[in-house]
Amino acid sequence: MSAKRDYYEVLGVGREASLDEIKKAYRKLAMQHHPDQNPGNKGAEEKFKEAAEAYAVLSDAEKRPHYDQFGFDAPSQGGFQFDPNQFTDFQDIFGSFFGGGGIFGDLFGSGRRRSGSGEQGSDLQYTLKVPFKEAVFGVEVKEVEIPRLEACGTCRGSGCAEGTSPLTCPQCRGNGQVAMRQGFLQMYVSCPRCAGRGKVIQSPCPSCRGEARIHRRTKVKFRIPAGVDRGQRLRLEGEGEAGRSGGGSGDLFIVFDIEQDPLYEREGFDLHRRLEVPWPILVLGGELPVETLYGQDSIRIAAGTAGDKVVKLPNAGVTRLRGSGRGDLYLHLRVAVPTRLSSEQEDLVRELLQTMRQDGQAPEHEGFLAKVFGSEKNKKKKKR
Ligand SMILES: [Zn+2]
Ligand SMILES: [Zn+2]
Repeated sequence: MSAKRDYYEVLGVGREASLDEIKKAYRKLAMQHHPDQNPGNKGAEEKFKEAAEAYAVLSDAEKRPHYDQFGFDAPSQGGFQFDPNQFTDFQDIFGSFFGGGGIFGDLFGSGRRRSGSGEQGSDLQYTLKVPFKEAVFGVEVKEVEIPRLEACGTCRGSGCAEGTSPLTCPQCRGNGQVAMRQGFLQMYVSCPRCAGRGKVIQSPCPSCRGEARIHRRTKVKFRIPAGVDRGQRLRLEGEGEAGRSGGGSGDLFIVFDIEQDPLYEREGFDLHRRLEVPWPILVLGGELPVETLYGQDSIRIAAGTAGDKVVKLPNAGVTRLRGSGRGDLYLHLRVAVPTRLSSEQEDLVRELLQTMRQDGQAPEHEGFLAKVFGSEKNKKKKKR
């Protein structure tokens, strides 16, 4: 216990650090020293455990003040005991950050103990096109069909016909390797008879022809978290290819690709869209209804607003995946110019232009005006 470093020192944060700062510091350390990133590195593993221990205490509303007061010499009354076994399952720690089945655990390269003596199944990657709104709101249960190699049901993954079992390979005697002599050198190569498996199948299973696995399309269910963005990956542990002879299954990685929306353009958690505003409203000002992803809203347009203004509607964007709240919605105003006016409306606009001309607010050029107003004769005809 004497060599134990102060928990704040371990995480590199001050004693006043907020829970958020503690989390961030820990996450950074955990990624850096994660056993998966540093295979076989004992020092990294120690650091990883040390950080996990510090985090377990400093992120706990009860344990932290206790530690602050007593340090490691916590009295037994109400003290805490750190159980190192608590942290052998790294997936749990990472999963808990996101509060749901280790989703996005992959972003942290979370460790998985590969078990079994057989051949581990391969990891699979699948790109999923997600409709824009599903990415914004998330989907509780998304189901997709994945083609993959699964353990053969007939032989239960053994590759052998019913009532038979694999034999120890006679060529390598089960070693999987055979000696090869080349000049004075003797080296070992993978056994050609059993492909290094050490076992041979004499009477292969008729369903999988001894391959122990078969191609199947399988439905896989998972949750799409609200706010997911293009290129992000979800790891589904053990949903990849089946292993062989007792080897574990690989993982399935779902890579999200988000479909375009005709109305909204997404930029991180912010959204952008165009909003047509009738020009009299830009001139006079007023309240304008706006349909957002979350329902009806409105914006106030000041009198004399420019036709290319951008108005921000806070919190009407996309749910922040790992933060709180939502991004913003930016409305890019566009002047809506009416193309179908009644003759009365046309006359009103003409009248407006006429008075603007008298004010000097509209061009005076003769040719231009003649084009707009036409001759007096035409005007009468149209008016009837
Ligand atoms: Zn089979
Ligand atoms: Zn062999």
